[in-house]
Amino acid sequence: MNKRIIYFDRVFDDFKKILIEHKPVEFDLLFWHEMNHSEREKILPEADYLLVATEKIGDEVFSKATKARFLQKTGIGVDNIDLSAANTHGLPVSNTPGANATGVAELTILLILALYRKLPILNKETKNGKWLMWEFRPSSFEMEGKTHGFIGFGNIGRETAKRSKAFGTNIIYYDKYRVSEDQEKELDAQYLSLEEVLKNSDIISLHIPLMPETEGLIGEYELNLMKKNAVLINVSRGGIVQEDALYHALCDGTIAGAGIDVWASEPVSPEHPLLTLDNVIASPHIGAGTRDTLNRVLKMAFQNIKRVNDGEKPEYVVNNGAQKELKL
Ligand code: NAD
Repeated sequence: MNKRIIYFDRVFDDFKKILIEHKPVEFDLLFWHEMNHSEREKILPEADYLLVATEKIGDEVFSKATKARFLQKTGIGVDNIDLSAANTHGLPVSNTPGANATGVAELTILLILALYRKLPILNKETKNGKWLMWEFRPSSFEMEGKTHGFIGFGNIGRETAKRSKAFGTNIIYYDKYRVSEDQEKELDAQYLSLEEVLKNSDIISLHIPLMPETEGLIGEYELNLMKKNAVLINVSRGGIVQEDALYHALCDGTIAGAGIDVWASEPVSPEHPLLTLDNVIASPHIGAGTRDTLNRVLKMAFQNIKRVNDGEKPEYVVNNGAQKELKL
């Protein structure tokens, strides 16, 4: 009998087809959002593996999925997973490091360029029959010669830096851990404190995980340190930025603009004040939202589940060090 994997996020037709295409034949894939309450209660104790993207998941599932040996996340940020509950149940949790870096890096550059060149408003007004050939020139910029500051210099930060450098920026970064000398040399990147990065950057992009220590990291004090011409790109997690403070900073000219892919609460409310501003470009958490990323992430995720099924240990376990021994 095939082993059962439950997939916990909502799926759309094309998306479901891709998931099924990647699934190795020895597994059945069951879709949580297609089951009613009693079907869910019945299937949980029979599930062998759990697969999740961004849906919140914790004790309510883990305590009933008694047979499950492993939870695989498709993506890198594990802030939607209650890791301490996973630890309590000895459930190993893995993510797919690096697999979504290209997509997020490309979106970061897109948001910078779109903000710098006022693309959303020019697109809208050109289609409305207005010819704003000159109006925005004084407030439009090029990336070349600007300083791009990175907060977080892991896989996504460094992939973004590569692309930004190709546009002629100077790279500075802050991370909890300094990268190797070779990596700094390759990107011509300078390691600075958080405050120095905030003070010296024309472009600031966020690439750190959401954790208790990073929640609300960018607030009024940090925004006041930034240059008036600075643009802030948040492609990491909404909770890292204090949205009220950002709204005020964008209204009163403390900073020039923001590209926001991720929100403190998702989906973002249509009433959210940040959505009313012309100097904000908003997107619905699509950093890693490409077919190419999907292929890489799913390949890696199913390979890892297959490893466990073949009796090997999973790769990229994020809850090593759990008090209860993991079912590895
Ligand atoms: P990564 O683990 O490769 O890099 C994260 C970096 O953050 C590491 O270098 C780490 O040292 C650093 N860091 C951790 N805590 C820190 C702290 N308190 N202060 C300073 N630096 C700290 O992860 P990644 O692949 O680069 O992804 C980064 C984040 O991007 C993810 O955690 C996720 O939240 C977000 N993300 C968003 C999307 C999207 O669709 N917008 C997609 C993928 C990932």
